[in-house]
Amino acid sequence: MTTRDYYDILGVERGADESALKSAYRRLAMKHHPDRNPDDHAAEEKFKQAAEAYGVLSDPQKRAAYDRFGHQGLQSGQNSGFDPSTFSDFSDILGDFFGFSDLFGGTAGGNGRGRASRGRGEDVRYDLTISFEDAVKGANIDIQVPRLDPCGRCRGNGAEPKDGLTQCPVCRGRGEVLFQQAFLQIRRTCSQCGGRGQIIRRPCTQCRGEGYTRSERKLRINIPSGVDNGTRLRLTGEGQPPPPGGSSPGDLYVVLRVTEHPVFKRHEDDLHCLIPVNVAQAALGSEVDLLTLEGLQVIDVPAGAQSGTQVRLRGLGVRNVNGGGRGDLIVHVEVRTPTKLTREQRKLFEELREMLPAENEPEDKGFMDKFKEFFL
Ligand SMILES: [Zn+2]
Ligand SMILES: [Zn+2]
Repeated sequence: MTTRDYYDILGVERGADESALKSAYRRLAMKHHPDRNPDDHAAEEKFKQAAEAYGVLSDPQKRAAYDRFGHQGLQSGQNSGFDPSTFSDFSDILGDFFGFSDLFGGTAGGNGRGRASRGRGEDVRYDLTISFEDAVKGANIDIQVPRLDPCGRCRGNGAEPKDGLTQCPVCRGRGEVLFQQAFLQIRRTCSQCGGRGQIIRRPCTQCRGEGYTRSERKLRINIPSGVDNGTRLRLTGEGQPPPPGGSSPGDLYVVLRVTEHPVFKRHEDDLHCLIPVNVAQAALGSEVDLLTLEGLQVIDVPAGAQSGTQVRLRGLGVRNVNGGGRGDLIVHVEVRTPTKLTREQRKLFEELREMLPAENEPEDKGFMDKFKEFFL
């Protein structure tokens, strides 16, 4: 549990109403979501804090206790602060954004608490790691998706054909039961048969009553160019099949993770790389060959280049995944001083040392800091 002020965490006024809380929470959850920030513990912490703050402030009772007594108000008695299990309740909120419910689950969803409507199969998540180059250029990748198919023998209802099903003894086949409460009659879905009106007397021998068979399916995923860590691809109808009597299957969400590249780093749609030059190349200018993701490019290192000088190659970055043009390739020059000199080279450098002005002023640190942002 955090000790930070919940209103501060969400960045809202103390009098913020439910919709202001919700939108503040959404914004933070989107920004710091673990899928968008893999291995970033600071982001994960912020994500959890936002969830905790929202969990308290969106509950009128907890909020009242917090407003009066602060964090201590949540520690005593029933209002015992933050319960990690309430994470699942947030799926309603995030679900709207991310498009599926089982955010915190593993590879395949499907534990019944999804928001899939009746008659619709569960959405499934599949984590896929792709190479840096595939993310930049796009690719077709085959994946094996674990999948449940309706059992062919019982057609998904889990009972032996012909006489496997029998009328539900609780609701007598109606699928619902009536409760008498004071003057009211209340109808409820029968819990024995789940509203189907029938129960399984003899489970299907092929699927042992599960109604499904497990299989793996090969799917070809078309990865558009420009995707990045956390990008989700939705494959409509490739999730779990509908439950018995249902009509539409769920969707498959492929969540991408991109490996690092030894040479290129990505910052939004720009690519960055470092190119070493020697002092002579830097002083006089030079054409240097660079093998980019799209073949050989000649980099024009300008005369007088310093460590940190940038050469921008427009349009050689990453294609924007939403169709917003293309980023640049930015080459960072790094001047390398030779450490082993032949006798002749040494003589030339000695001459240069006498001829060149001494440059012993303290260096402006600004550009090194900027440069380091990309390579640390
Ligand atoms: Zn079966
Ligand atoms: Zn029943």
